[in-house]
Amino acid sequence: MSDKINKTPEQWKAELTPEQYQVCRAKGTERAFTGQYWDNHEKGQYRCACCGEPLFSSDTKFDSGTGWPSFWAPVSEDNVATETDNSLWMSRTEVTCKQCGAHLGHVFNDGPQPTGQRYCINSVSLKFDQEK
Ligand code: FE
Repeated sequence: MSDKINKTPEQWKAELTPEQYQVCRAKGTERAFTGQYWDNHEKGQYRCACCGEPLFSSDTKFDSGTGWPSFWAPVSEDNVATETDNSLWMSRTEVTCKQCGAHLGHVFNDGPQPTGQRYCINSVSLKFDQEK
């Protein structure tokens, strides 16, 4: 994987909040129902909190009941990368920002149609741009 944006952990620590750093750069997970966007129903675009790349749209957001913002597709397959994650004794598929490598969350195959995918994303990894 070759990210287009490469910064040292020190650079990211200086730019991000401690919670953003913990989730995006250290693959943490925010507690369910605590994030800014799981219950956001405004129209707009969700960008990467680290690099600003457009990642998800309100058009594909759905209420998953999980307490994390959930989408059935990314804005573009070119903007997100997926990788097998075998941590915590589970096999999951991790989702990252293709441009900067930020950890976003995981994708599961129990989502709604038309894709059947459920991108389960940390609010703290995203920055919402409301449609004007
Ligand atoms: Fe990014």
